[in-house]
Amino acid sequence: MLTAVQPACGHSIKHRYFSQDPLTEQLMTTSMPADGVSLGPENARLKVDDPGQPVAAPDESGNMLYVPTDPRFAQVQSFVAADRSLRVFERHLQRKLDWAFGREQMLIHPHAGNTINAFYNRQEGSINFYTFNAQELGKTINSGHSAEIVSHESGHALLDGVRPEWIKCLEDATGGFHEAFGDILAFLVALEEPRNLDKVLAETGGDLKRPNSVARLAEEVSRALWDELDMERPHHDYLRNANNALVNADPTTLPPDPPDESELGRAVHNYSRVMTGAAWDVLDSFHRQYQAQGFGVRQSLEKARETVGALVIRSLDFCPVGHLPSYGDFARALLEVDRRDFDGQHHEMLTNLMAARNIHPPEQQPVPALTLPEDGTTPFGAQRFLELHRDELGIAAEVPLAFERSYANELGEQFLLYRYDRNVAVRDDLSALAQGGLLLVFDGDGSLSYRHFNELTPAAEERLREAALSQLAAGQIRTDSVLSGEVELSSMLQDDGQPYQGYLSVEPQGTVIKASPVRA
Ligand SMILES: [Zn+2]
Repeated sequence: MLTAVQPACGHSIKHRYFSQDPLTEQLMTTSMPADGVSLGPENARLKVDDPGQPVAAPDESGNMLYVPTDPRFAQVQSFVAADRSLRVFERHLQRKLDWAFGREQMLIHPHAGNTINAFYNRQEGSINFYTFNAQELGKTINSGHSAEIVSHESGHALLDGVRPEWIKCLEDATGGFHEAFGDILAFLVALEEPRNLDKVLAETGGDLKRPNSVARLAEEVSRALWDELDMERPHHDYLRNANNALVNADPTTLPPDPPDESELGRAVHNYSRVMTGAAWDVLDSFHRQYQAQGFGVRQSLEKARETVGALVIRSLDFCPVGHLPSYGDFARALLEVDRRDFDGQHHEMLTNLMAARNIHPPEQQPVPALTLPEDGTTPFGAQRFLELHRDELGIAAEVPLAFERSYANELGEQFLLYRYDRNVAVRDDLSALAQGGLLLVFDGDGSLSYRHFNELTPAAEERLREAALSQLAAGQIRTDSVLSGEVELSSMLQDDGQPYQGYLSVEPQGTVIKASPVRA
């Protein structure tokens, strides 16, 4: 039976913690707010579920001080890292996030099995971490011991809550952005920890373009992985590096996963790196700008972290509904948030940094003068609003947009989301789901202030078809059997434990390539 933790003193629970990754730091002793935390640990939004293991519980002083060889350490570590990620996310989003899987709590499985892996499972509403006996490291590692990996997987879940249809999309930029966002969140959350600010400044002498451990992600797990695969890497100790010089290219021109890390690939984790790199550029640029304004080097880094978090996370609410056509569409959302929250003062800087990465925001769509009616957020009222104003909104009568949901934030902005889908033939015997949509944003006074119609154009259909075919060719789609209905987790994983990008499903309209609800 679960009982609330009663900390003996103050309102915090002392625990041991890796604020980045076990390979790059000494274990620290820190504390988490005790508010609402019960044994497991568990709170209103997160619940550690660890069958067959002892359960983390407060000691007589109300603390949870475990060492990494104790399975309860992984419970506390993964819980705290996910909780920190959620707090950073909601602080910048300025609203409560609803998980995409429809429950109040996301499950955390710190001991999901024995392999080198970690993933978010939308179907189950869980993030999952694995143990592995890393012979060359001489220890058993756990991917949940890395705060960066926990932040990355939490990032999939958090983004899924804002744009739940994206995870069903096979396209390159949508999949790549899902991966990039997890990495961006990982470095933003790491920079919340004061000792990581000191560390990155010590490593770089204040120049964030120099090599540093905050930009390098998942050091311990990647070292175990390279050892296991017997892969020679010039930089042995990270999976991906946010501090990179990659330049965006049309994904159809890219090889799937080139071994040279300075070469961009099309596979989602590989392709993500250019977007993550662009976000690191923005962090670096703000860091320089604040120093030029007279702030100290450390304070400038804190301010840069806050501004990047505000811009990047708030931008998710202004991203296209249905799918993300290109990284440029995220850049457009970024510019919109800059316009709203910062009077557009960083427009030129952001545009230039993105252009240097060959990321180009499409034009903002014009916004007609319209006001949200009183019943505009009800399903009936929202649909009627669209039908009455199709002309002004530039949406043809035959586009079957249906109201999906609405939400508001603490700034008083009201978001209305509409969706439409279409099945696109990929081959004679196979189709895939194309998803379009409409986003309308109203200010606190009810006036329409942003509109984005994500239209399923022939070009968008071709992008989807091309991406699906390339993933089939690269073996990223499970094709050895055709599945139907709710899919078992085991059938989403390859022999090496890595998730497939998609699978084949029997639907009334024939065999459909579906994107996997499991994201590593
Ligand atoms: Zn991922």
